[in-house]
Amino acid sequence: MSLTLPAPVSDPLDGDGHRGGAPRVPVPDLAAFSAHANTRLRESDSVLYDLLARESARQHETLMMVAASSVADPSVLACEGSALGNLTAEGYPGNRYHAGCGIADDIERLAIERACAAFGAQDAIVQPHSGSSANLAVITALLSPGDSLLGLDLDCGGHLTHGSPASVTGRYYRAHGYRVTPEGLLDYDQIREMALKHRPKLIVCGASAYPRSIDFARFREIADEANAYLLADISHIAGLVAAGLHQSPVDHAHVTTTSTYKQLYGPRGGLILLGREARRPGPERGTLAATLRRAVFPFTQGTPDLASVAAKARALAFVASPDFAEVAKRLADGAQAIAERLLDRGFRLVTGGTDTHMVLLDLRGSGVTGDVAEEALEACGIVVNRNRVPGDTTPVRVTGGLRLGTNTLAARGMDRTVAAECADLVADVLTALAAPGGSLPDDLRDRVRTRVGELCAAHPLPGYLP
Ligand SMILES: *Cc1c(COP(=O)(O)O)cnc(C)c1O
Repeated sequence: MSLTLPAPVSDPLDGDGHRGGAPRVPVPDLAAFSAHANTRLRESDSVLYDLLARESARQHETLMMVAASSVADPSVLACEGSALGNLTAEGYPGNRYHAGCGIADDIERLAIERACAAFGAQDAIVQPHSGSSANLAVITALLSPGDSLLGLDLDCGGHLTHGSPASVTGRYYRAHGYRVTPEGLLDYDQIREMALKHRPKLIVCGASAYPRSIDFARFREIADEANAYLLADISHIAGLVAAGLHQSPVDHAHVTTTSTYKQLYGPRGGLILLGREARRPGPERGTLAATLRRAVFPFTQGTPDLASVAAKARALAFVASPDFAEVAKRLADGAQAIAERLLDRGFRLVTGGTDTHMVLLDLRGSGVTGDVAEEALEACGIVVNRNRVPGDTTPVRVTGGLRLGTNTLAARGMDRTVAAECADLVADVLTALAAPGGSLPDDLRDRVRTRVGELCAAHPLPGYLP
């Protein structure tokens, strides 16, 4: 598709927004409007306002180490909270089902252009409401109900939408799951064997809980040998990919998907990216890109959320900027530092380390379960998530592991020294819990909480304080 913006339709407004001859309609200045909107919320709905204010404070004061989480720049939040939320623009740029979409078209084209620039993609679909919606669109576009797909097993770090029976992707399709080795690593020979045995129409690679790099080129070889499409879901590592710190799947996979609120520091939402296969014929009429557009709208979604599309455009501009390279480097350095420190402190890590922003702590045998660790750490101001580790037999709500990530640490400018200290704080809490009769002593909780507060004050959320 063409990425050049169309000439604007002739603008009936004069220089200061006045329509010649018509009565002047007062239009608020955007920046003043934001303050007004918040004041209005406080005055009209103090219950909701207090909840929002408390959540804001919580984010400033806690050490967010959930690997799937990040923090968007206030300029991204401004897009999400903008008047674009009022805009209905069913369809695609230049092809809408409503009048009044000229500005929507420009915004969506800008988001597409920036997505392509950030990832070196040929084409992008920016309307998916989430990473899950993006995956659902791809799967419904390429497979018919009952067709088979091959994805990483949920227990081994895969995502629900990669064929879990709890998801439509495992219910309406014949899903097969490949597993990791006892060390927690992908086993490409096993994947190839399963692909040749089950002959899936689609192979899904990418993960939610896998700390090592993924060889997308190798996955494509396997897909070609098995005559399957390859979907690469880079939801967790999209920032590292964009920064060139992880191999990019964009030209290896037939289709690449990602969430936008994790390592892209954007809004809730998803993206579909196409590389060299964008213009190949799809399974039915038109190109692969056209097939996937139809799969998003009208097949699995209705109207797009233009506020979210604008927020994606804003986030992607940052991802494509030179400043992002520094954040990406801190993502990887911080995770390395955390892994090294936890190993020094005697903890066991899935795969023994990390190549990404993620560290998976294997707590089995330590006497501490994931749920207890998660709760104790939260009491200290450190937010993590319990996670099953490969071979885990503990119940899903208990789990034998913890997943840590550096997205928010990196955004706050925390370098490897600070990241290592964060790992020490986590280790201090876990060590206390693991001691015989282990619990979290009040003095330890207070000490960690105080230090967390100091670290957060020294590294404020980026751009949040005027
Ligand atoms: C988080 C995640 C998703 C889902 O994204 P949502 O936007 O939360 O729906 C999809 N795939 C993987 C691998 C993920 O980690």
